[in-house]
Amino acid sequence: MASQPDCLFCRLVREGDHVNATEGFVAVEDINPKAPVHLLVLPERHVDTFREVGKFEDDEARRMLEFVADTAEKAGLEDYQVIVNVGRGAGQTVFHLHWHVLGGGSPFE
Ligand code: AMP
Ligand code: ZN
Repeated sequence: MASQPDCLFCRLVREGDHVNATEGFVAVEDINPKAPVHLLVLPERHVDTFREVGKFEDDEARRMLEFVADTAEKAGLEDYQVIVNVGRGAGQTVFHLHWHVLGGGSPFE
């Protein structure tokens, strides 16, 4: 889907402060970090949730996953969590697919 005029993350893709970027994808810092490093990976393509991940071309989906890993690596993370909240009942509050990358402190210590 094309950029949605009222979507916060479509706006961040267009004019946010990007900590990493490649064709079709950007990463930004989460405004309310839940770990020492908390980044969000946003695809330029607007889909509401991960349920619609099939709308990405095969190569685009692979590049999105590689960009998640690249973003964590560039942030200096070796061990980290990748989280996608899918739907309101799972805690999703912004309905533009995004990948949380959390690290910099082990949740298991
Ligand atoms: P979710 O609850 O999975 O939909 O995640 C939405 C995330 O977006 C939350 O972790 C928020 O802290 C974050 N967030 C909301 N508004 C902004 C913003 N303007 N810039 C960066 N992160 C944001
Ligand atoms: Zn959007």
